[in-house]
Amino acid sequence: ESGVLKSDGLLEKDRRHLWHNMRPYRANDRPLVIVEAMGSWVTDHEGNRYLDGMSGLWCVNVGYGRKELADAAARQLQRMPYYPLTQSHLPAIELAEKLGEWLEGDYVVFFANSGSEANETAFKIARQYQQHIGKPLRSKFIARYRGYHGSSLGALAATGQAIRKQGYEPLAAGFLHVRPPDSYRRPEGMTAEAFQLLCAREIEERIIWEGEDTVAGVIMEPVITGGGIIVPDQLYVDEVRRICTEYGVLLIIDEVICGFGRSGRKFGHHNYGIAPDIVTMAKGLTSGYLPLASTAVKREIYEAFQRTGEYDHLRHVNTFGGNPAACALAMANLEVMEKEQLPQRAARLGEELLNGLKRELADHPYVGDIRGFGLLIGIELVEDRDSRKPAAAAIVQSVIDRCRAAGLIISKNGDTVAGMNNVLTTAPPLSSTDEDMAFLLTVLVESVQSLRQN
Ligand code: PMP
Repeated sequence: ESGVLKSDGLLEKDRRHLWHNMRPYRANDRPLVIVEAMGSWVTDHEGNRYLDGMSGLWCVNVGYGRKELADAAARQLQRMPYYPLTQSHLPAIELAEKLGEWLEGDYVVFFANSGSEANETAFKIARQYQQHIGKPLRSKFIARYRGYHGSSLGALAATGQAIRKQGYEPLAAGFLHVRPPDSYRRPEGMTAEAFQLLCAREIEERIIWEGEDTVAGVIMEPVITGGGIIVPDQLYVDEVRRICTEYGVLLIIDEVICGFGRSGRKFGHHNYGIAPDIVTMAKGLTSGYLPLASTAVKREIYEAFQRTGEYDHLRHVNTFGGNPAACALAMANLEVMEKEQLPQRAARLGEELLNGLKRELADHPYVGDIRGFGLLIGIELVEDRDSRKPAAAAIVQSVIDRCRAAGLIISKNGDTVAGMNNVLTTAPPLSSTDEDMAFLLTVLVESVQSLRQN
């Protein structure tokens, strides 16, 4: 009745038939086989329960088991399951309008199915837009090392983590990288403020050295998540916005993880008060219940495509992007977030968790830095606090394993090639209860503290 299965050869079948995402081969590998989920908790096929402290990176922001989301999709599937957006349908129109409200600016919305596709769409729109305004040579993009923008050959080219690219070249051409605004790893003797400015100005230098009429856009996450929870200062973001405006370069903000309440505001960039030219989103748009993604562009970009000839429209199609059931579900998801004020809740829970972790762990010899952005928290583990040398993979993994044994799922982020995959990460659902959060804090603190005994 509980839906819990007996092992029954399941892991053998899994190994035989299912190719997992980013999972290195290990002879005794035991991936979690999740069979049920409710609130912030998931249950595996042997009946073990875990608090999903990582759901935020797949962005189950409203938590699991929301009947109103499932019902919205089911109703739409029965009424009208599919029609392409070469024509139109009600759920897409309503959701596009709603996203405009959420973005707090004048945006027009294109739909896709994944964050990678949303970014690919943004790159094509940006290049073509520059052609429409008479700047046909502007084809390059600037991104940051450690940033992640997806797995397809353009989004991967934008990604700034070498390990993900090795062996898959040639990727899309024209993507350049600059250093991330990681103040924890700034040069000795430099203030954080000076370092943040230096990082932003590196973008300006690149534009100038490449030739200012060759760069179409800058893409960045509000906070680099997969690369290790790198939270920029206000002055960095302001400076990037200034540079993009000054050189006519489009600022593409990738809200695939930071969007939809995770940051404590509706979108991550709202925390910095800037207006992007293009916003890409996925995951949290449906709280992960169904695939749906979106590329929102400022109205003037959209209008530049409306004034052109027959074959100059955006020649880009996406069969399932904006499918009716996912759009109806996304609407129900946004309504839950509004009704329960989940962005505000994320801000409170995130602050409490960050304060709790700092109180308990700030002096720990292996804890280099503790940082957060809404309900997205990173703990950077180091070998020692003076050298800031990243902790070895086995140390980081031992904390993750201890959490798992105690019923908490967390993970690590960073950059493997740079030898710093050492940032413990947690991002539970925004709807987590106060008891969930207390459990998460206790288990995480005890698991990190256990490193003293090693
Ligand atoms: N951008 C960011 C910031 C992401 O974290 C991800 C996925 N982790 C993507 C883009 C790609 O999204 P998807 O996996 O849906 O293609």
